[in-house]
Amino acid sequence: MEVLKIKPNNITDIDWKILKKLYANNLTEITKKLENNYPVQYLIGNVEFCDCTLEVNENVLIPRFETEFLVEKIISKIKNYPQNTLKILDIGTGSGCIIISIAKKIFQKYYALDISSKALEVAQKNADLNNVKINFFEKNILNEELDRDYDIIVSNPPYVGYNENVDLSTKYEPQNAIFAEKKGLIFYDRILKIISNKPKLIAFEIGMNQGKAIKELAKKKFPSANIKIEKDLTGKNRYLFIENK
Ligand code: GLN
Repeated sequence: MEVLKIKPNNITDIDWKILKKLYANNLTEITKKLENNYPVQYLIGNVEFCDCTLEVNENVLIPRFETEFLVEKIISKIKNYPQNTLKILDIGTGSGCIIISIAKKIFQKYYALDISSKALEVAQKNADLNNVKINFFEKNILNEELDRDYDIIVSNPPYVGYNENVDLSTKYEPQNAIFAEKKGLIFYDRILKIISNKPKLIAFEIGMNQGKAIKELAKKKFPSANIKIEKDLTGKNRYLFIENK
């Protein structure tokens, strides 16, 4: 029998209990991984996000707390629209966390794209697990156009500049879900370029120092829109909303 291992410092009691069950025979190995900052979420294999349980693996970014607050804000905005036939697109869906947790709360038509077919497999599985219908498709928006107009576009694209500091655990996540060119701004620029209608709402998660630059891009594209930067629960600028009348 394996000797009882000591819980690594960065792991909660609850997670350790789960890990001891899942990895009863490899506790030495996973303790080493955890000590090397390997994300506990990948070892457990799922996370709680908004009111959803979502599977995660190394093919998807681990959903972040900040993004839960983005979802709450988007849901309260969508509730102001009377229609229930809105086409809603999530760009760079990853695990599907944003679009699935919205779809679980509000009846609309949902679409989500990602550059990674492996991420889309995870997202599809998560949609099934949570009983929501999302039309997933593979697309690299940096060199492809959107296939149709959408009423609402949401996105938490990679937005960290290549020279920025990140948590050690992020090295195990898909790097193309975190880092982006042009100081992390390339996706906001491109998304705004490929939109050819006037969506009611565009909702972005953004880096804390990117608000001003993205607001300028948004203003150029939609001069009469209501553009607002909002803060996350730690007081950092984290979201940008563009609403067209
Ligand atoms: N916010 C994530 C982080 O802190 C990065 C994800 C992203 O760029 N959208 O690592």
